[in-house]
Amino acid sequence: MYCKRHNDNTMIYIFCAPSGSGKSTMVKHLLTTFPNRFELSVSCTTRPPRGQEVHGREYYFITREEFEQRIARGEFIEYEQVYEGLYYGTLRSEIERIERKGRTVIFDVDVKGGLNLKRILGARATSIFVCPPSIEELSRRLHARGDTSEDMIHKRLAKASIEMEDAKHFDILLINNDLQSAFAQLDTIVEKQF
Ligand code: ADP
Ligand code: 5GP
Repeated sequence: MYCKRHNDNTMIYIFCAPSGSGKSTMVKHLLTTFPNRFELSVSCTTRPPRGQEVHGREYYFITREEFEQRIARGEFIEYEQVYEGLYYGTLRSEIERIERKGRTVIFDVDVKGGLNLKRILGARATSIFVCPPSIEELSRRLHARGDTSEDMIHKRLAKASIEMEDAKHFDILLINNDLQSAFAQLDTIVEKQF
């Protein structure tokens, strides 16, 4: 683990990673290990729900028209067209909603969105870049997960190489090689905040 800065009083964690690096696995670990302590910020998106996704749990699924009205009203702290034509955005109200409960906010956003959030939130937030041990291992995991077409895997691997160049801008670089050791490193990071 490479730790540039770590603010022990942080109340917000920003998780970013190239697709397949284990970001969801790390976030899920925190949410299940410390159930009343962390809560995931629910983003808005204009993409349709996938599989068992539920409105208000994984995302607020809204139309493009509603998304653009919310942009105009200044409701987003950041938003991006992560994939062509599809909006994803973080609502300012999510931070208030979660902090009112006395819980620590977790953001799961793309690399660009994560860097924007860190720039805006400053020392209140710790940004964590979850990194695969190698592009070869990333490719192996994406194939093993079995939910992504060969064409999409190619695109994600190409994007991953570019995203890894931004790793240096994050507060913490968490290399997810051995899973248990990555969990232990993450626990050490958040336990400093107890
Ligand atoms: P992301 O959210 O970054 O796209 P996931 O958390 O879905 O990535 O992980 C991608 C795949 O790799 C999943 O099948 C997950 O179970 C697996 N995985 C995650 N971490 C490890 C690890 N340290 N070693 C082996 N497999 C892993
Ligand atoms: P998916 O469609 O697979 O759920 O998410 C695609 C990407 O969008 C992921 O990298 C996810 O982290 C990112 N994402 C989800 N919500 C937001 C958000 O509010 N803002 C930004 N910038 N990215 C997001």
